[in-house]
Amino acid sequence: MSLKRVLVANRGEIAVRIIRACHEEGLAAVAVYSEPDRLAPHVRDADAAVLIGPAPSADSYLNIHKLIAAAKDTGCQAVHPGYGFLSERAAFAEACKDAGLTFVGPPAAAIKAMGDKTEARRRMQAAGVPVVPGTTTPLRDPVEARTEAKRLGYPVLLKAAAGGGGKGMRLVANDREVEAAFAAARREAQKAFGDGAVYVEKYLERPRHIEIQILADHRGRVVALGERECSIQRRHQKLIEESPSVAVSPALRRRLSEAATAAAGAVGYVSAGTIEFLLTPGGEFYFLEMNTRIQVEHPVTELVYGVDLVREQLRIAGGQAMRVHVAAGSGGQLHPRGHAIECRITAEDPFNDFLPATGVLEYLRVPSGPGIRWDGGVEAGNDVTLFYDPLLAKLLAWGETREVAIQRMRRALSELVIVGLPTSQPFHLRVMDDAEFLKGDIDIGYLERAGGRVLAAPSGPGLERAVAVAAAILADEQKGRTVGPSDGRTARSASPWVLEGRRLGLRDVE
Ligand code: ADP
Repeated sequence: MSLKRVLVANRGEIAVRIIRACHEEGLAAVAVYSEPDRLAPHVRDADAAVLIGPAPSADSYLNIHKLIAAAKDTGCQAVHPGYGFLSERAAFAEACKDAGLTFVGPPAAAIKAMGDKTEARRRMQAAGVPVVPGTTTPLRDPVEARTEAKRLGYPVLLKAAAGGGGKGMRLVANDREVEAAFAAARREAQKAFGDGAVYVEKYLERPRHIEIQILADHRGRVVALGERECSIQRRHQKLIEESPSVAVSPALRRRLSEAATAAAGAVGYVSAGTIEFLLTPGGEFYFLEMNTRIQVEHPVTELVYGVDLVREQLRIAGGQAMRVHVAAGSGGQLHPRGHAIECRITAEDPFNDFLPATGVLEYLRVPSGPGIRWDGGVEAGNDVTLFYDPLLAKLLAWGETREVAIQRMRRALSELVIVGLPTSQPFHLRVMDDAEFLKGDIDIGYLERAGGRVLAAPSGPGLERAVAVAAAILADEQKGRTVGPSDGRTARSASPWVLEGRRLGLRDVE
């Protein structure tokens, strides 16, 4: 079926990213937006935009009925869900299909199979993919939890079968902790997912989080696009990702890729997907979960494999063949070129336990130059609220080697200027100078160990704060004087800011 118009059922940077891919594929893109997002870049960049409701996600970006109606009303043939929101809800994929719309993603059955972690573990075991030792059915009660935990050996992790975002997860160190942890995990899982099912697995010491990107088409072709190293996390949320991983040799990459393609094949997967693994210091790897959608960190793979994953998703959804070419005898794998790193620029204060920050983005200077990519979802004048994810943009650097990629990232981070609210930028700058990170000596416990070095608040008020205060005063003065274009979009009044920034020496901001 040929696609002409795609509804982008998302917001922020991923909506902008999908609109770009649509345009490059010669497709029209329709944006949806909530009331506070009316001035957001994704609304402006799309060929048409539909207001779907007020700020709360439940009334806008999570409302299946409104999204389907928006797609039908604007003559779309397909819906791209992005990540988060409804992207991993089988019910949304089904509703699209029932409405005669192509869901740009896997079949609902694959989402369902991978969404239930115990079922996913059973399917993976059957397909010969190693899973973390543990149960493949939910635990009946704390007595069974204790028996299984003893068999595995402490420490163990209790996890929600319907899990996601680290919710419903409890670390248990010994017999005495089982009962309370089991009750807490059940409660949290019930609250977050409406399903209290909990299972147990062995807690691995100092593993790396390594994931394999795959693409699969309707013709049964599955291609693996190498790994991403996502070990730098805070409370199980990724902060920095890179590809390739210093810990993955070509031989290990081949084994991981074979496991990932087997995993995708086992659930009849179609579209872009990611199989997450934990890699132990000893080199064993275990299936963790599959994300049945495009991921935040997909651009690092794009940079080293020269593939546009979102365009491929659109082609596959339209029934076309993948554009990816794999050399004969390579076992369905592509080969990486150079090294890429991504830093997530979030509206969070890294020096205050990553507390989410809100406010008006007063000024934004986006880095550019050799090897730099900025996937952003905001611009100066936008209001950052607590209604949505704090991710403002992703900053990526590519280099021939890891060292060059890090040098470029450091340079780009120091070019980046964000005034109006605290962001993760200074944290990333510190990591780029951290000895352990530079050696590639990282695992999921990195931040716990390095926190003292990379998360200590800078001493004194610093230039950064002075600049923010000056900018806020200027912004106030500017208000009322800025005349917007007649169509009600944001005014682009950057030039006085640029001059002011220069006068204030913004380039010295950490
Ligand atoms: P969620 O779906 O809630 O994000 P995951 O199963 O993907 O949960 O795990 C999230 C993170 O928790 C992983 O990236 C890893 O840092 C940590 N983790 C999960 N399982 C284990 C385990 N068995 N041992 C050690 N760490 C784990």
